[in-house]
Amino acid sequence: MKKFSYLLLIAAVFACKSKPAVSDRTNFPITETVFGKIDTATVTEYTIINKNGMLVSILNYGGTVTKIITKDKAGNDGDVILGYDSLSGYLQKGNPYFGVLVGRYANRIAKGKFTLDGKEYKLATNNGANALHGGLKGFDKVIWTVEKLPGDSSIQLTYKSKDGEEGYPGNVTATVVYSLSSNNELKIVYKATTDKPTPVNLTNHCYFNLSAGADSTITNHELFIQADKYTPVDTTLIPTGKIELVKGTPFDFTVPKLIGKDLDKVQGGYDHNWVLNRTGTGLERIATVYHAASGRFMEVFTTEPGIQFYSGNFLDGTLTNTKGGKKYVQHAALCLETQHFPDSPNEPSFPNTILKPGETYTHTTVYKFSVK
Ligand code: BGC
Repeated sequence: MKKFSYLLLIAAVFACKSKPAVSDRTNFPITETVFGKIDTATVTEYTIINKNGMLVSILNYGGTVTKIITKDKAGNDGDVILGYDSLSGYLQKGNPYFGVLVGRYANRIAKGKFTLDGKEYKLATNNGANALHGGLKGFDKVIWTVEKLPGDSSIQLTYKSKDGEEGYPGNVTATVVYSLSSNNELKIVYKATTDKPTPVNLTNHCYFNLSAGADSTITNHELFIQADKYTPVDTTLIPTGKIELVKGTPFDFTVPKLIGKDLDKVQGGYDHNWVLNRTGTGLERIATVYHAASGRFMEVFTTEPGIQFYSGNFLDGTLTNTKGGKKYVQHAALCLETQHFPDSPNEPSFPNTILKPGETYTHTTVYKFSVK
């Protein structure tokens, strides 16, 4: 009997050893849950959790990030992005791209057309006369093929966009890898190849509110953007082609500033592309957001030349199936969309967005969360 208890004790110790404590583990296995169906396709939600308890969930539909749960300075968990409780929320007309992957071309292309190698291409227009975020059925409204990568922290999404889709030339293969690090970084690596020259500009469209629902707007969030210049727009939000200095204007975020400070001075609110001050082409920290009451701090690193800061101007409290039934009022959240400049295919002075056969489009962005 004594010998038996001793054996039991050894077995118990061994069992504990083979299952390390949470803090010793790098990551947890990625879980999959069925989120709904679109026709015959299953929409799956993939959830990645790291050792700190930070959680990110992503759908194969639109590569949509549905949740980012991070701790505040008191150690309480909160979801820092807007979204819906069910798939029907994401499928509703007028869903303003919550959390999605945007492509083939993020933001607007004027009048839905551009000329490439002497040929004019007409795109699907979905924003007045302009094409916005890839058209009527952009990369945000398709099912991506998902593969879990080795390890417990990354998934790879692939979408093959056909020649002529939404008016764009060339068969494009896009892959996006979402990873969650043990340093609370959500890393997004975008790649694309094509068989004909075509514009490519990919981004993610998360709507952040670092108060995790405590504040109804982001006016008390402090924003820093490492940019001395921005691209002014016309009344349809198409860049005028000029690049102007932010100094002395409401667009100056070179020193961290509360978003609410000058928001009223910008007609319609912030919805502009900032021209990032960069020292090279690598990953650089170019923006930060701080919410003092929760202590949550988000840093944005990117390889891209621009960032669209959108202050949620068109949110008006009418979306349904929102998380917990919350009213997403005007300025309920902000987007920081790392990108090439809007309408670049029609603005030869802007950095090139035309991808050619044999080349690989690559873009890396990291959203890093901490408290202070
Ligand atoms: C655009 C806004 C648009 C929003 C949602 C942003 O990237 O710049 O004008 O309303 O996306 O569609």
